[in-house]
Amino acid sequence: MTSRGEVRGSGWAMRSAGRVGACLGWLVPMAAAGVSGCQKPDPSRTGTEGSGIVIHYGTPADSDREGAAFLRGRKVAEEATSAIGALVDVDRPMSVGVVSCDGEGSSCDPEATRVKVCYDEVSGTRELFRRTGPRRSDDAVAAVMLETLFHEMAHALVDVLELPVHGREEDAADQFAALMLLRKGAVGEQQVLAAAEAWQLSEATNEDADEGPGTHSSDGRRAADHRCYVYGAASGRHRGLVGPDTLPDERAKGCAEEWNAARASWMTALASHLRDGWTLP
Ligand SMILES: [Zn+2]
Repeated sequence: MTSRGEVRGSGWAMRSAGRVGACLGWLVPMAAAGVSGCQKPDPSRTGTEGSGIVIHYGTPADSDREGAAFLRGRKVAEEATSAIGALVDVDRPMSVGVVSCDGEGSSCDPEATRVKVCYDEVSGTRELFRRTGPRRSDDAVAAVMLETLFHEMAHALVDVLELPVHGREEDAADQFAALMLLRKGAVGEQQVLAAAEAWQLSEATNEDADEGPGTHSSDGRRAADHRCYVYGAASGRHRGLVGPDTLPDERAKGCAEEWNAARASWMTALASHLRDGWTLP
């Protein structure tokens, strides 16, 4: 798999092109038939890591073993759920399934607050990076997966907390992912930029990608958005981002304002749900 896409909720359009990464899935077939398409979670591999959000690791398909080992070893889901648990008090059960999906794409079921992330996105992301030349580090691959998880969990939070969303929810979910990463500082900035690079590579390999209703912005647009957020948050460290093929000068000028608006929108939406002591740097 070399593309990034997303599935969200029953009836949601699944992207046929683009990087794999949104908010459906595994619970609809599971509820209907026990298991279908994605693996049944293995209860022995379930934990909450103190966040109140349950993580299920499905038994990987043979082709997903490397991806499964990578995600478990890097504790990507644990980091995401821990960060969300520290952010907000969610009084409804939420869960994250890390599973084999047979190319279906990461997703989130809005009604059951379940997020699904696919093992094969690890190999898909590696393949995207491989096409550019020197192999990117495991850190970059893990960053893309973490960004995907935060994006999916944004959808889940919108549903479970009934948050207001201004503009397209897909764009808001990207902004939430950026928010959760950029608050980490320089490390998070590099993680957002790794995700942006993956989006750009995905755009280059999916020339027919479109922006239909309810779907994401194009992958190229998402790459530029992420770079704009990084530049807007820390322009002094990222002047090299500005360029015609990365972040056009005209867009760059407004990125501080753009990022502040995106950040403020989420902070306002989450205000009554934030845990005591949670702050942005
Ligand atoms: Zn999404």
